[in-house]
Amino acid sequence: MAKRETKAERSARAAEVLRRLDEQYGTEFRCYLEYETPWQLLIAVILSAQCTDARVNIVTRDLFKKYDTLEKFAWASQEELERDIHSIGFYHMKAKNIISCCRTLVTEYGGQVPETVEELTSLAGVGRKTANVIRGNIYHQPSVVVDTHVKRISRKLGFAKEEDPEKIEYELMKLLPEDHWILWNIHIITLGRTICTARSPRCGDCFLQDLCPGAGGKSGVSGKAAIGTPSAGQRSPRKASAGKPSVSKTARRSVAEQTEQGETP
Ligand code: SF4
Repeated sequence: MAKRETKAERSARAAEVLRRLDEQYGTEFRCYLEYETPWQLLIAVILSAQCTDARVNIVTRDLFKKYDTLEKFAWASQEELERDIHSIGFYHMKAKNIISCCRTLVTEYGGQVPETVEELTSLAGVGRKTANVIRGNIYHQPSVVVDTHVKRISRKLGFAKEEDPEKIEYELMKLLPEDHWILWNIHIITLGRTICTARSPRCGDCFLQDLCPGAGGKSGVSGKAAIGTPSAGQRSPRKASAGKPSVSKTARRSVAEQTEQGETP
């Protein structure tokens, strides 16, 4: 029977995972959704549900010119706004939420985007994940954004047991140092899109293989996932880098592109 990992061993393993993620993907994070004001980011994140950030950016370039104040969104015609964002999925619901959300910002928050999770999640179309995106990008508050990549891979790595994203958020906050809360989302999404894909994770190419209890389809923490042995990346940098994305193009995809409704393409 596999030896149960102690708390200290798990922390040490997490620290090594973070070190390798930093090494592979860098530590810089930036927002790939284009915005100039907090309310523009909020609208962009609402629009990004089930849509790529590239598509959102194409739409918001014209949208933010046409609706250049928060008030214009707040009192927009829903039908017209739907037409303006029709190339983005779920445009009916998104238009409705954007108008309602902006009206609340104008009438109750003096045109400001609030900072707390409670206030943010009280806005139409804003769930916990969007709230954390805003907190991280606008207010630089360390926060863990849990989407399906983060949920799936954190569980594979043995860093989360729960199913509920909010509970996973707390599990990760307990384990990871604050300076990696935002980066965790960015790095894990990059890993999930390139190596640890949902359909067929390429564990043989993964620089976390020797640290991952879920490697090779196994589940549960085993003796294999202990720090101290060289990683796939250390043993064979070329092999590990085969699945390594360009840091400039892929690795720093923003937390802001993540959606309330699952993995972005
Ligand atoms: S070893 Fe496999 S399961 Fe674990 S993170 Fe890497 S690709 Fe995913």
